[in-house]
Amino acid sequence: MTSPTNLRVGGMLVGYYRLCPRKAWLSMRGIWMEQESDTVALGRLLDQSSYDRADKHLTIEAVAPDGTALIGKIDRANLREGVLHETKKSRSCEESHIWQVRFYLWLLALNRNNGPDDTPIPGPGFRGQLDYPLLRRTETIILDEEHVAELAGTVAAIRDLATQATPPPRLAKRSFCKQCAYEELCYG
Ligand code: SF4
Repeated sequence: MTSPTNLRVGGMLVGYYRLCPRKAWLSMRGIWMEQESDTVALGRLLDQSSYDRADKHLTIEAVAPDGTALIGKIDRANLREGVLHETKKSRSCEESHIWQVRFYLWLLALNRNNGPDDTPIPGPGFRGQLDYPLLRRTETIILDEEHVAELAGTVAAIRDLATQATPPPRLAKRSFCKQCAYEELCYG
């Protein structure tokens, strides 16, 4: 179980929070459902089989302005091109995926890494890319100052969430709840 003292916020958790704070709370409490594991396993398989093997997995650590430890485990990074890739199987939770990739770009900014054209991030030096190999689509993701402020706010909100003894209320059922591993727990 995660407590505020050992909290390390990762990209998937940020994506969950942006989608549904309840989902973020459940995952922080270590409630990890079978379907979720299958989804992650499929994502890993797609990642390993679909793209250039020259690209590398990358782990980035940083500290948020409020002192929260942050970690990003990036599917694939092509540092020469300045592209961080995240592989997904469907676009059903795309907004959540976009925030996950923005979070990774923010970690680079916090580490003061410059892009290939030596532009400090946020800027055009690095970009993210969502890859949907099953759909044969990609989406380019950028980070701007508004996103940075939103991400800092999201991390602060996740810190507060970690102190809550009970989960936030479930959402009024939305289409993406059908894809969520916690659907049965919420609505069963
Ligand atoms: S089923 Fe819906 S309400 Fe429940 S945790 Fe998942 S996204 Fe949130």
